Amino acid sequence: MVVFPTETVFGIGASSLNHNACREIYKVKNRPQDNPLIVHFANSKEIETYAILSNQARNLLERFAPGPLTLILKKKNDSLFSTGLGTIAVRIPSHKVARRFIEESKTPVSAPSANPSGKPSFTRNEDVVSYFDGKVDCILLEKATDLENRIGIESTVIDMSSDIPKLLRPGSIELEEIQEVLGTKVELPQNPGVISPGLKYRHYSPEGRLHIFQSTQDILNRLNTLGDNLKVDPKDNIAVNSRKIAILAYSNTELNSVEELTKSFDASSHSCVFKIQYAESNMDYAKKLYSFFLDCDKESVAEIFCESPRQGRLYSAISNRLKKAISRDDSDH
Ligand code: AMP
Ligand code: MG
Repeated sequence: MVVFPTETVFGIGASSLNHNACREIYKVKNRPQDNPLIVHFANSKEIETYAILSNQARNLLERFAPGPLTLILKKKNDSLFSTGLGTIAVRIPSHKVARRFIEESKTPVSAPSANPSGKPSFTRNEDVVSYFDGKVDCILLEKATDLENRIGIESTVIDMSSDIPKLLRPGSIELEEIQEVLGTKVELPQNPGVISPGLKYRHYSPEGRLHIFQSTQDILNRLNTLGDNLKVDPKDNIAVNSRKIAILAYSNTELNSVEELTKSFDASSHSCVFKIQYAESNMDYAKKLYSFFLDCDKESVAEIFCESPRQGRLYSAISNRLKKAISRDDSDH
């Protein structure tokens, strides 16, 4: 079992031909048995050994691979680990370390995201080391320079195993881009969990309660209602014995006034504290989302306020992850 970085999030992988090793991954992650793993390949030629590539699937790979795109394809044989579906999920990552690892392995690599099931995915070296050290055979770290290209949320998943392509999970490759390559509409299934077992589970959730606000002004209004109970510790934004609040929002002028507001509270009247994480764009938001959630957990933040994402690239992907993170009930997916 090897933990490795990819351009989306870190993965935990084993040879897809070693079914026992693949089963071990489920134990380390506490992953539900029916949630299949994505098989990672070095190139599309290798995919054809194990799966049926239609012309349309080939077109998608030509355009988007290597990259953050996962295709569901019909299996050709049973040599790769699977959970008993007639299909496999395939992806060719673009991250340098991931590619080198898969190439040198000389086998496809089955890998889900490297994180305990249900929790936010890991996007930083420190997160994978603190959870996986001692639990796996090897952890491949990444250099700070790789971070610039990190997307921060999981791949777009498209079901290409039947005549009608379906979007199972939104990611940084947008529906419109896929449709343009295919020249046909991609279906948005009402209940993608029926096709993709992993999607019915709650995911990405921080411990604290998550609230989504349409704008920073709405966040400001909410904070105002907290009134005198709100105070930021001038030292490090965190105080003890208080109900902690954290905010993830786009950097703009309204937010500055949030900071002003918090500064203006009297030092003696605090019972709430908060920390603000700024995002400059949807790309920056996606990059920071999971590490922000994990930081909130580390600090036992009780209430998490997120500004809803803006229209444009990554809008659907971020909305989808926030929606899943806010859900307290597995059964509604
Ligand atoms: P992750 O755990 O983040 O790697 O997510 C893997 C995703 O791919 C889950 O949502 C799975 O349900 C989905 N997946 C993997 N294999 C298949 C498959 N054969 N058919 C449909 N979805 C799949
Ligand atoms: Mg996952």
